[in-house]
Amino acid sequence: TQATIGLIGLGTMGAALALNIAEKGFPVAVWNRTTAVTRRFHAEAGALADRVIPTESLVELVAAIAPPRAIILMVPAGPAVDDQIAALAPLLGPEDLVIDAGNANFHDTDRRASAGLPMRFLGMGVSGGEEGARHGPAIMGGGARADWDRIAPVMQAIAARAEDGTPCATWMGEAGAGHFVKTVHNGIEYADMQMIAEVYGLMRDGLGLPAAAIGETFAGWNQGALKSYLVEISAAVAAAADPLTGAPMLDVILDAAGQKGTGRWTAIEAQHLAAPIPVIEAAVMARNVSARIAERQAGEARFGATPQPLDLTPDQLEQALIAGKILCYAQGFAMIEAAGRAFGWQLDLPGIARVWRAGCIIRSAMLNDMATALAEDPSRNLVLAPFFAEKLEIAMPALRAVVARGITAGHALPALASGLGWFDMMRTGRGTANMIQAQRDFFGAHGFDRLDGRDSHHGPWGAKA
Ligand code: NDP
Repeated sequence: TQATIGLIGLGTMGAALALNIAEKGFPVAVWNRTTAVTRRFHAEAGALADRVIPTESLVELVAAIAPPRAIILMVPAGPAVDDQIAALAPLLGPEDLVIDAGNANFHDTDRRASAGLPMRFLGMGVSGGEEGARHGPAIMGGGARADWDRIAPVMQAIAARAEDGTPCATWMGEAGAGHFVKTVHNGIEYADMQMIAEVYGLMRDGLGLPAAAIGETFAGWNQGALKSYLVEISAAVAAAADPLTGAPMLDVILDAAGQKGTGRWTAIEAQHLAAPIPVIEAAVMARNVSARIAERQAGEARFGATPQPLDLTPDQLEQALIAGKILCYAQGFAMIEAAGRAFGWQLDLPGIARVWRAGCIIRSAMLNDMATALAEDPSRNLVLAPFFAEKLEIAMPALRAVVARGITAGHALPALASGLGWFDMMRTGRGTANMIQAQRDFFGAHGFDRLDGRDSHHGPWGAKA
């Protein structure tokens, strides 16, 4: 039999995805740059080995797939993708389809989509890590709708399913739309993780709770409004013990966060779009600062930043995290809406909330309600949707108390605090940018509009020195 689909790159993600495809009943032909990896993969595929066709050259790979062919690339983003496309180009026809399923920068996907490649091309965001790829990821497709429709049966079969049974595999829009949505997903992931880390810090350094108690608190929160994969795994990591020393695992892990850049891409793109996403930006900043350990230690030696005990309850921290999460997602969805307008993509915001409900790292109970709220009016900021406005009315006093007391006591809360700052601007009809406009006009004759609607003009600034 010929394979339904091909896959290149049997690393962590590609191997898991290939097994998932085979398990759902589709014969899959695989090829890897290092042949030994292909052989080992096939040898270890167990009961699924029958549906895995190992190949040792690209010619062999292409021949093993039923035409018109579809081939998934699961290699590192960047030049490796261009190299693979170039290597496949002479072997494929105009109806064959290459699907880049790595974490591409969506600008690269846009470029490839418009490069006049000799084959069809899709960019596809896959979220859920290795476990997701193996048993059900969230899949965000981008490119020509007809090309997506061709592979949709396979993608929907391997994807995670939301509680209502809907597969989390959706076409997002033309060209780079799928990778764009995946990028913002990762930005939100950075923010969710950072806010959880900040609340963890308040419990550890402000309430003096040991890791086990923090784990129980997270586990409790995972039964309520914060029910989500990231809170669930935070409970699990806080409860885990180091096999070498018996100490809580969290207490032996170096506090320098790694990153592969997708959060940074989100922040950069938000700047291009003039989309305010301060919680995500703060989360990217926090990872960067975390990596500067020597500098932070010098800072502590000079300024003695030891945080003080806090008068806060775990309930207040839970409410603060609920508020922070709503604010962060409101910013993320508003950025997606802005991108849709800027790039001419028909991005379906409720559909995006729905595709994130299962399989991906930011899956959470709250996304159901977000999908409902966005379906009412996709262009209205989520904080103004009645359901979330009511939630915020309840939770904002806690976020305010947590940020105010936390900062007063010397705790670093960049993500939670920036969410609050944004919210306070968002609920201020008469802000302070009149001062900015006056300054700009003073030094640059940029002009300004008047509140009373009379002609816009500049100056006169009689007191100008
Ligand atoms: P791995 O490092 O585990 O595997 C990389 C694979 O790509 C290997 O099969 C490797 O082959 C192959 N490869 C590397 N360089 C080249 C090249 N120049 N030409 C051809 N093949 C090459 O990576 P992951 O599986 O973790 O990641 C793959 C993609 O998926 C990346 O874009 C990543 O960002 C994305 N991703 C990863 C997630 C994760 O949780 N790990 C989650 C979501 C997306 P060889 O065996 O020869 O080295």
